[in-house]
Amino acid sequence: MGFPKTPLIIGQGLAGTCLGWEFVRRGIAFHITDSGEGGSTRVAAGLINPITGKNFEPSWRIAEFYPKAIGFYRWLEAELSEKIWHPLPILRLASSEKEWSKISAKLDLPEVSQWLGAGSEITNGFLCGVELLGGGWLDTRKFLEFSAARFHDLGLWADSGNTRIRCEGAAGLIAGGMGEHRCAKGEILTVRADWKESHIRIGFGGWLIPIGGGCFRIGSTYDWNRLDETPTSVGLERITAIATSLGGGDFEVIAHIAGIRPIIRRSKPLVGIDGSGDWVFNGLGSKGTLYAPGIAEMLADWILDGTCPSPEFVFPSPFS
Ligand SMILES: Cc1cc2nc3c(=O)[nH]c(=O)nc-3n(C[C@H](O)[C@H](O)[C@H](O)COP(=O)(O)OP(=O)(O)OC[C@H]3O[C@@H](n4cnc5c(N)ncnc54)[C@H](O)[C@@H]3O)c2cc1C
Repeated sequence: MGFPKTPLIIGQGLAGTCLGWEFVRRGIAFHITDSGEGGSTRVAAGLINPITGKNFEPSWRIAEFYPKAIGFYRWLEAELSEKIWHPLPILRLASSEKEWSKISAKLDLPEVSQWLGAGSEITNGFLCGVELLGGGWLDTRKFLEFSAARFHDLGLWADSGNTRIRCEGAAGLIAGGMGEHRCAKGEILTVRADWKESHIRIGFGGWLIPIGGGCFRIGSTYDWNRLDETPTSVGLERITAIATSLGGGDFEVIAHIAGIRPIIRRSKPLVGIDGSGDWVFNGLGSKGTLYAPGIAEMLADWILDGTCPSPEFVFPSPFS
């Protein structure tokens, strides 16, 4: 595979930004551009949670992607002289016997127990809870803004190049070319409240993240039918219920935003070459913060050295 003279990264979300930094780290000249029309990363809460979902399962290939993600965000903090990664313990709460029995059945599994903390006080009427270590949130807006500013300073912000790498998120999936997608709209509230919680709280089908200054980010919703970035009254109602359950009743909503998660059928990130010969990096789904740095490294190896990743990461995927 020939070495691309000037790669052009199209889209400066999590995917394009992580790939851009991967090129910077390797001393590769490239260009990056963005239409500035929106994007999921600007909306995302940036949460990393090692054990997720109703079934309380370790995130897919977490042993491989977690150290890459944390290592990358730490490296970038030093590079930008800005704090962007906020580690926080997670309190995973159960509101019913059934939910708690699912969680407690897994607590002794080595892949789960390695993330367990000492426990914490359970409040707000939840039945049981368990503390998880290794979680935290990426300040995604700061990550984008400071990266864009540095790319500008380095003279990398331009829309010319002879090898196009499309990192277009949901807009790219909806436009077609990567087959069937399962993109999902999500809404998030930022609230101000006098809650004393210093954990990320997860339960009741949502999460609450203390972001400092008496503010909390709370989400989220999933809507596969209305793929736009407009907040809705239904979303507000749903997240208000999550906020009340996880935090308490007394809060002031200071922001309500919506975005579209770029999801391909199996909710796994994919890289590859599309029908027009462009490279693509997409499908970061609901967990882009965890997977983007590791996948960017993999794609850079492929583009620059010809090292093809394992088939489960490659578009068109035999696994999708
Ligand atoms: C409500 C909500 C909450 C979320 N919470 C979390 C969370 O807590 N943790 C987590 O890990 N993930 C979360 N996510 C998912 C996360 O946002 C995505 O995984 C990730 O941001 C996707 O990054 P991306 O770069 O692929 O796409 P995007 O961030 O959408 O970036 C694509 C970029 O490409 C640009 N673009 C598109 N087409 C073109 C074009 N033709 N030319 C130029 N530019 C173009 C767009 O303007 C955009 O900036 C959340 C998502 C939503 C919607």
